[in-house]
Amino acid sequence: MRLWLLWAPWRMSYVERSARSSETECIFCDAVRSSDEKHYVVYRSKHSIAMLNLYPYNTAHVMVAPKRHVPSTELLSDEELLDLFNTVNLVMRAIREEYNPHGFNVGMNIGRAAGAGIENHVHVHIVPRWVGDANYMPIIANTKVLPENLDRTWTRIRKAIERILSSS
Ligand SMILES: [Zn+2]
Repeated sequence: MRLWLLWAPWRMSYVERSARSSETECIFCDAVRSSDEKHYVVYRSKHSIAMLNLYPYNTAHVMVAPKRHVPSTELLSDEELLDLFNTVNLVMRAIREEYNPHGFNVGMNIGRAAGAGIENHVHVHIVPRWVGDANYMPIIANTKVLPENLDRTWTRIRKAIERILSSS
């Protein structure tokens, strides 16, 4: 079980390696301006945006960011912070209802030294976990099994969020 303790996906820079190839363009700011399809956006609130990680560490790995381009949550207003974490909770609830995970890893990388791939636009990683899932991940090789494709995950999470919002 030592493996569990070592497995902290929000601290692994390669999770976000997609961003380093295009440093001039911020994928979160582009997602705010673009269609949902382009960046697999699953939800937009007043101040926040939620989208799939293109290099997920597990099925249904979602990132939630403020719409405003700031490098740390310290720079957000109270209203933006509340909106951000309400969105984190909404996404977690949708994943819980749709995928029945046994737990979540939720966290942020602040600054490049902490492993942030997109260091100028703060975002929260939400990674659902199932008991035993690490058994299938050859962590040393930095590769892993992805049991579901992004299009399917995108559809399932969007529908789950719609369901939650229409019933509340
Ligand atoms: Zn940005």
